[in-house]
Amino acid sequence: MKIIGIIGGLSPESTTHYYLGINQLVNERAGGLTSADMYVRSVNFAKYYALMERGEWDTIALMLRREALNLVNYDGCDYVAIATNTMHKVAKEVGRPISGRDMPLVHIGDCIGEECEKIGAKRVLLLGTKFTMTERFMADFLADGYGIEVLDMRKLPRDVAEIDRIIFDELCHGIVLPDSKTYMVSFVDGIVSGETLGHRPDAVILGCTELDMILQEGDVGVPLIDSTQVHINKLVNLCLGE
Ligand code: GLU
Repeated sequence: MKIIGIIGGLSPESTTHYYLGINQLVNERAGGLTSADMYVRSVNFAKYYALMERGEWDTIALMLRREALNLVNYDGCDYVAIATNTMHKVAKEVGRPISGRDMPLVHIGDCIGEECEKIGAKRVLLLGTKFTMTERFMADFLADGYGIEVLDMRKLPRDVAEIDRIIFDELCHGIVLPDSKTYMVSFVDGIVSGETLGHRPDAVILGCTELDMILQEGDVGVPLIDSTQVHINKLVNLCLGE
């Protein structure tokens, strides 16, 4: 079995989903008492959040790069995952080669793109933090790599702010409020019906690793692609050599 390295704590809530989800899937596939061979490097979220808010992404890139190098060079990890979508804004810097060989970074955007291809989704609604929804790094990654059109959430700044607030003020603290769930479902329904943005998406991407706490398959009228789950699936496939 290959060794997985997770850069987590962004937030701890979602890192527990990775930890439990990876172990559960490995055990389902390999049986017995088998569990995942895995390092979880859990960082201090407040430190990163302050840098995000100040737009100091170069510093974030350096910090994440150092964590990834430690996991590969010192802990012997065969694969590394950053357990959040937002931090993939600096995935290129984190994933730079190490002395001529590839950094084995498993990009969450590839997992999302591959799932879109599998279900034939060409146009999607991407939900996530304000960074993920408005800064286009994930939208461009999906467009360039997979030919997927991401609906433009920059047209809906109030909804972007509200979804971002729900993520950071509630979900990252492990809080799921019924009113927030009602808001999320009705917001997504409006988009899915084509009323809000004028185009209907084929799928909704939970492009934030905490959003699986508040939206589940069946809540909305199109397939949901949960970035946490597709990331977990790929990591388990890789670590079991499937
Ligand atoms: N976990 C979240 C995400 O997937 C947000 C936290 C962060 O900013 O990293 O984007």
